[in-house]
Amino acid sequence: MTIYSALIERRYSYGDFMSETPRLEIDAKNIAWIVFDDPNAKVNVLNFAVMEKLANVIEQVAANSAVRAVVVIGKPDGFLAGADIKALQAISTIAEGRELAARGQEIFTALEKIGEKIPVVCAITGFALGGGCEVALACSYRIASDNPKTLIGLPEVKLGIFPGWGGTQRLPRLIGLRAALDIILAGKTLKSKQAREVGLVDEIVPDALLRQRAEEVADNYAKFAPKREGHFVENHPPMRSVICNAARKEVMEKTRGNYPATLKALESVEEGLGKDLRGGLENEARLFGEICTTPQCKNLIRVFFLDSDYKKLRAFPKEKLEPLPVAKVGVVGAGLMGSGIAHWLASRGFTVRLKDIKPEFVQGGLKRISTIVEGGVKRGKLSQKDAEALMARISPTTDYAGFENCDLIIEAVLEKEELKKTVFEEVSAVAREDAILASNTSAIPISKIAENVKRPSRLVGIHFFNPVHMMPLVEVVVGKQSGKVAVESAVALVKKLGKTPVIVNESPGFLVNRLLLPYMNEAGFLLEEGNPIELIDQAAKDFGMPMGPLRLTDEVGIAVTYEVCRELQESFGDRMKISSVVVRVNGTGLKGRSGGSGFYLYEGKSETPNAKIYEVLGIKPSEKPLSLETIQQRLIYTMINEAARVLEEKVVATPSDVDAGMIFGTGFPPFRGGLMAYADTVGAQNVVKTLEEFAKTYGARFTPAPLLLDMAISGKKFIQ
Ligand code: NAD
Repeated sequence: MTIYSALIERRYSYGDFMSETPRLEIDAKNIAWIVFDDPNAKVNVLNFAVMEKLANVIEQVAANSAVRAVVVIGKPDGFLAGADIKALQAISTIAEGRELAARGQEIFTALEKIGEKIPVVCAITGFALGGGCEVALACSYRIASDNPKTLIGLPEVKLGIFPGWGGTQRLPRLIGLRAALDIILAGKTLKSKQAREVGLVDEIVPDALLRQRAEEVADNYAKFAPKREGHFVENHPPMRSVICNAARKEVMEKTRGNYPATLKALESVEEGLGKDLRGGLENEARLFGEICTTPQCKNLIRVFFLDSDYKKLRAFPKEKLEPLPVAKVGVVGAGLMGSGIAHWLASRGFTVRLKDIKPEFVQGGLKRISTIVEGGVKRGKLSQKDAEALMARISPTTDYAGFENCDLIIEAVLEKEELKKTVFEEVSAVAREDAILASNTSAIPISKIAENVKRPSRLVGIHFFNPVHMMPLVEVVVGKQSGKVAVESAVALVKKLGKTPVIVNESPGFLVNRLLLPYMNEAGFLLEEGNPIELIDQAAKDFGMPMGPLRLTDEVGIAVTYEVCRELQESFGDRMKISSVVVRVNGTGLKGRSGGSGFYLYEGKSETPNAKIYEVLGIKPSEKPLSLETIQQRLIYTMINEAARVLEEKVVATPSDVDAGMIFGTGFPPFRGGLMAYADTVGAQNVVKTLEEFAKTYGARFTPAPLLLDMAISGKKFIQ
């Protein structure tokens, strides 16, 4: 028994192997149609059963001498979304991984071999991703439909693997080394037009004509067959290594080596081009085996499932609550967040009424929106017509006219409790009885804002992050009086907006700010001790954070950071004591990124640590700064400790909520699997031991949370 069949036996029952997909149909012209149209699934996926059925179909075609041509085609709205990620997650040894890759390669090579005798035409509409793209690459000719949902590419590195069914071998041979690396190393997916431009597909046709055109090409291939010329660079070893070395350097700069799949993909491409296709494939399978068992791969797959699970989240899954339908939304406050929210709502088809107190403020908001929209048009993300339609969906106002028709009203005025109370009193006087009311407050308890609201059960928090059009997370904040329907409706709206909801009970800082601000504050303590700005930020970036904590403080704004730190200190006391650096830098009037200086000086695209900070604060840079590892531990363990308290206090329900919040709300490195998954990797015992040492040296703020202590004793993990 091969490992592959053992793998199959262990995880799949015989019933799973009765795949009907793909079907084989041979038409009157003796064209064999290999049709991926799984009747039991919305999208076709290449699971074990489908792969084995494909192998069987290919064998039948190869054995049938009457067949003159082959067309490989998918569902009318989708080709193949890729491999079965659950099967990938189940791989536990290098040998299993290698065999999984080798078997897929064997099947696709059999398809390619048919193409050496008769044409094999691939007709693509919708997704042709990962394994789906690799099927297409094994065909002789590729036609893509002009359906805007058509996406072709190799996103594997995003899951901590790389294309292991021939993608790293066939793509560079087809479109050239540089273009192939651009797709494979970034995990890119291309629209039809881009795929045509790089030569990944041979032609684009209107969606309705895809089948007909595939038949025409298959029937009369000699007329259409492209002349495929080799690429000079691929066959020229010194040039190959120049390009690959440059790509390696770029990958290291971007990932700091934290995403090994990208480097392995590069290795597979480079080494493979030095061999014949067969040798390249063997090498690809070997490297694939090594990569799919790494912790980074397992963590990235977990994050993939976290993302899809939270996009399906329901607040009360056991109750049959119907979320209220929302089409018209009123937004109060056209500042940074209000305009961002209005833009995002309009971009998703909602009609928006945008209110501020003065016409120039509403105009300012509209201007911000049109800047984002125009940027989208310039980058080809949006047509001019769609951009105009988007803007037309937002109507400005300085009073509440039109709010009586809104299904949902969201407030994004200044972060002042009294102002928010007044605004909600006004809003609740004009709102429909059944309308949902929401606040975008960063920290004020929803129950306080609800004091003057007629129906407080209708009020919830919907906390977007800045910039709204880029940040995937939205915290749905449940106030003490928030009703179930309002909460479920808020969750449904967030999902409809394509964002990831996390449900949070009202509590200071909710989830994300409660964890992130102590991390930023700890950077202040580190600086106070004389550790240089760039060293502190480097430690965080080496760990994988998208930005160092001091750079982040500049980005958020020094005054805002101080304000939220102050709120947290007020609520949690000494444990959240603000570092003197945050207090004093705020006192200097430095604004951070928006003002051109803070912990860094910003000039055009350059940013350099602000040497004046040391002078202004009277800090002497230490001659013996802390090690990168100790800085990382102080920054990250601070968050782990606070997260344990958040879980104890039931601010969120599960450790996965923390992980989703941190990854989608702060960019916590996905390859670590999330903050709690990382705590498990280190082990509660080790975290506690280090925190106890820190508490002795740096103060009681590091005292381990009771939940962490329990876990250290019991040996339990956060993520089961
Ligand atoms: P902002 O200062 O940019 O905008 C606030 C706007 O509210 C101003 O244009 C102001 O004129 C307007 N306003 C004041 N009173 C009003 C009224 N009675 N009716 C209508 N408009 C009124 O502030 P912002 O950064 O957009 O923050 C808004 C809310 O979002 C705050 O609660 C803040 O805590 C929260 N928030 C901010 C961020 C962020 O990064 N800035 C992130 C998440 C949440």
